[in-house]
Amino acid sequence: MKVTVALSLGSNLGNRSKNIVCAIKMLSSIPMTKLLACSRIYETAPVGSRKKQPYFLNACILLRTHIPPYKLLKYSQAVEKRLGRKRKRRWCPRSIDVDILLYGKAVLKRNVLEVPHPRMCLRRFVLHPLCEIAPFLRHPEIGLTVAELARMNL
Ligand code: ATP
Ligand code: CA
Ligand code: CA
Repeated sequence: MKVTVALSLGSNLGNRSKNIVCAIKMLSSIPMTKLLACSRIYETAPVGSRKKQPYFLNACILLRTHIPPYKLLKYSQAVEKRLGRKRKRRWCPRSIDVDILLYGKAVLKRNVLEVPHPRMCLRRFVLHPLCEIAPFLRHPEIGLTVAELARMNL
C-alpha cells in the first residue's frame, strides 16, 4: 500500500546544509519510495536543551512510499549513521536528525516509534516547513490540518 509520509530533518553540527541536502538525497533513493516535496531550509534557534547549542537548519520532506513504518525508521537511522550522527543523549547537537512526523493516518505508540511524532504539534521549526509543503495533511489524532496547527503555534 502506498502511503504519504512526512519527515523532518535537522542539523546543527558540521556542514549543516550539506547534511540536510545529502539526507534528502539518500531518503529519496530508498527503494519503493518517491520524493513528493521538499521545503526550504530554515535556520532556527535550538529549543528544549538546557545547554547552549549551535543554531539548527531544519527542513521537511514528503515521501510516497511502500515501505512499512518500522522499516522506514531503520532507513532513516541508517541515513543518520552514514552522515556521522553519534547517538548520545536526546536533544544533543547532531550532524543530522531524521524524525518521522506522520505516516499516512497511522497511529503508533511504541517507544521505538511513535507516530504522529509526539512533539510535532509544539514545534514551530517542524510545523513551519511542513506547512509549506503539506498544509492540508491532517493529524490523525487531533483532527486538525498542518496549517491549522501551524497557525496555533505562531
Ligand atoms: P525528539 O524525538 O524529541 O525530536 P530526538 O530526535 O533528539 O528527540 P533521538 O535521539 O533522535 O531523539 O531519538 C530517540 C529515539 O526515538 C530513537 O531511537 C527512535 O527509536 C525513537 N522514536 C520514536 N518515535 C520516533 C519518530 N516518530 N521518528 C523518529 N524516531 C522516533
Ligand atoms: Ca528530533
Ligand atoms: Ca530523532
